[in-house]
Amino acid sequence: MVQVIFLGPPGSGKGTQSARLSEFLAVPHISTGDILRTHVAQQTDLGQKAKAFMDQGDLVPDQLILSMVQDRLDQPDAQKGWILDGFPRNVTQATFVEDLVKQQQVEKGSENADSKSLNTINLEVPDEVLIERLLARGRADDSEETIRHRLQVYHEQTEPLIEYYRDRNQLSIVNGNLPLDQVTAALKNAIVA
Ligand code: AMP
Repeated sequence: MVQVIFLGPPGSGKGTQSARLSEFLAVPHISTGDILRTHVAQQTDLGQKAKAFMDQGDLVPDQLILSMVQDRLDQPDAQKGWILDGFPRNVTQATFVEDLVKQQQVEKGSENADSKSLNTINLEVPDEVLIERLLARGRADDSEETIRHRLQVYHEQTEPLIEYYRDRNQLSIVNGNLPLDQVTAALKNAIVA
């Protein structure tokens, strides 16, 4: 059972590295941004509600996100572990995952077994590099103004989670400002399966 949470700002390489690790660890890569973009493309009720927040680079409200994540984590393929990319993004969401993991441990009768299988990784990349990378990526919400706003939202709402996980001894820090393969290698070393 391996559970990985990727912190790290937009453009830090969470998506690319999650996809690689998903194959290596044989657990699903769950990206809340990808799930939301699918809802927007399919114009579901959730997609229509989420779109304006995403376009502006704001977080989609927790009441929409939490049930979406719960549904995904209830799927059969997620029972053997997962890689969360882009979730949690604030303290409310982090508390939600923590409760969910605890509940699973109780259900499986392994309260004492391990919080060790939960790996939280911060991919560190300086802001200037992020802005360059995001501008080059050219996604719909990657205009320079939106990028700057997304970074601000990251620093204000998501960065506090670094302390949150450090306090719980669940944090590893990996330098994301290196060639892709080197980052992947460092991640494989950091993850306790
Ligand atoms: P991402 O692909 O992770 O950069 O996410 C793209 C956009 O989706 C973000 O800018 C947010 O508007 C929204 N989003 C993704 N994940 C979350 C989340 N965990 N909480 C709130 N909004 C999210």
